Amino acid sequence: MIPSQFDYLAPQTLDEAVRLLGEHADEAKILAGGHSLIPAMKLRLAMPELLIDLGRIKDLSYIREEGDQIHIGAMTTYYELESSERLREVCPLLPETAAQIGDVQVRNKGTIGGSLAHSDPAADLPAAIIALGAEMVAVGANGERVIKAADFFVDLMTTALDAGEILREIRVRAPEQGSGQAYLKMPQPASGFAVVGIAVTLTRDQGGVCRSAGIGVTGVASKAYRATGAENALVGSSLDEQSINAAAETIADGVSLNGDLFASAEYRKHLAEVYARRAIRAAVSRAK
Ligand SMILES: Cc1cc2nc3c(=O)[nH]c(=O)nc-3n(C[C@H](O)[C@H](O)[C@H](O)COP(=O)(O)OP(=O)(O)OC[C@H]3O[C@@H](n4cnc5c(N)ncnc54)[C@H](O)[C@@H]3O)c2cc1C
Repeated sequence: MIPSQFDYLAPQTLDEAVRLLGEHADEAKILAGGHSLIPAMKLRLAMPELLIDLGRIKDLSYIREEGDQIHIGAMTTYYELESSERLREVCPLLPETAAQIGDVQVRNKGTIGGSLAHSDPAADLPAAIIALGAEMVAVGANGERVIKAADFFVDLMTTALDAGEILREIRVRAPEQGSGQAYLKMPQPASGFAVVGIAVTLTRDQGGVCRSAGIGVTGVASKAYRATGAENALVGSSLDEQSINAAAETIADGVSLNGDLFASAEYRKHLAEVYARRAIRAAVSRAK
């Protein structure tokens, strides 16, 4: 339970952090809230020689509106997401999801950037970020680039970030009129991590027809994924029980399912369908 020896640097600016990471990309790790990295270091699953702490960089923690987008700094904590009045009005999916993560200590320290960069297959926020079709802004020695949420999660604990890149900002489009959102999960009773978690955002027109849908799934496979089959089953439908059931039945199509101590692959598939049905229904009931 004691980490191997490491050095520690706490840059004051993002430029300095990028420079340090560029110089030490092979041996360094970024430290954000520390709620995944520090336990991994204590178990010696991670043994970085250097930690570059983003905690002193003031301008990485914000929630701002820019045109029809919401920009969120990578060091924004779960507590800041869940307690943002404005976010509850313009993008309730993020506060709803953040409020379901771990316990109050985890939510006070854990960051949106840390959760996404870690890509834990049972983490909550990746599902919401995928459902929202968010964009990730990464910064490295060669400047910035934007990565779409659906391309960001590559595999178990693996993202599209390069070794020398820092996730700086997450951008989501504020949902338009007639939209409804929901995140539902079955939590693992001890940790709160998602055994299955389904995030839904959808828009219906005045006639009640579904115009767009975004569905992100976590806990089910080695990484969070976009359920395009289920999205397609909803778009153009009247969001009645028949179309909701048809969408839910495709939720794990083409996916290699996780099976573990808590839920076999078969049971997870069943849970994913049940939670998809419930999450879609909840989003439909909120669409206005
Ligand atoms: C008891 C407990 C219960 C939990 N329950 C849940 C739960 O129910 N749901 C859930 O989703 N999570 C849960 N977690 C995990 C928690 O959400 C972590 O905080 C999160 O996974 C990592 O965020 P962090 O800010 O702590 O990042 P850190 O632990 O500091 O970093 C995680 C990884 O991301 C990298 N990283 C961090 N920030 C950046 C960045 N900006 N750019 C590039 N790389 C970066 C680090 O180098 C590291 O590899 C739980 C954790 C604990 C300890």
